[in-house]
Amino acid sequence: MKYSGSCHCGRVKFEVEAPSHLEVEECNCSICSKSGFLHLIVPQSKFSLLQGQDTLTCYQFNTGVAQHTFCRICGIKPFYIPRSNPDGYDVNVRCLDNQPDSITVIPFDGIHWEQNAHNLALKSQEDYAEEQLL
Ligand SMILES: [Zn+2]
Repeated sequence: MKYSGSCHCGRVKFEVEAPSHLEVEECNCSICSKSGFLHLIVPQSKFSLLQGQDTLTCYQFNTGVAQHTFCRICGIKPFYIPRSNPDGYDVNVRCLDNQPDSITVIPFDGIHWEQNAHNLALKSQEDYAEEQLL
């Protein structure tokens, strides 16, 4: 299924291909808990930025691996490149403009990131993503 997503002001628009039933992570780390981000992690091939590259700016902290991209006009973070999956994209399901048939929210303990991040690694792999789309 193709989803379209955007920031609040609409300058940033993207598409993501993912199953009609989504399994997403809700993370308790310092930044995700404050922004309410619901994580849909996909390989690069399943994500396309349609417009707004020039409106995106980036916030980095701690290890600096994650690139927390957000719209500099409206402040919304519709997707970013996560530290757990630097080879993929992590889309905020709250920023999708068409909704999935259903969503299963799985708690992710990002406070203890080092012990748990390996559980997410497969989500940005092509084979895994293709399987989920079947
Ligand atoms: Zn915006």
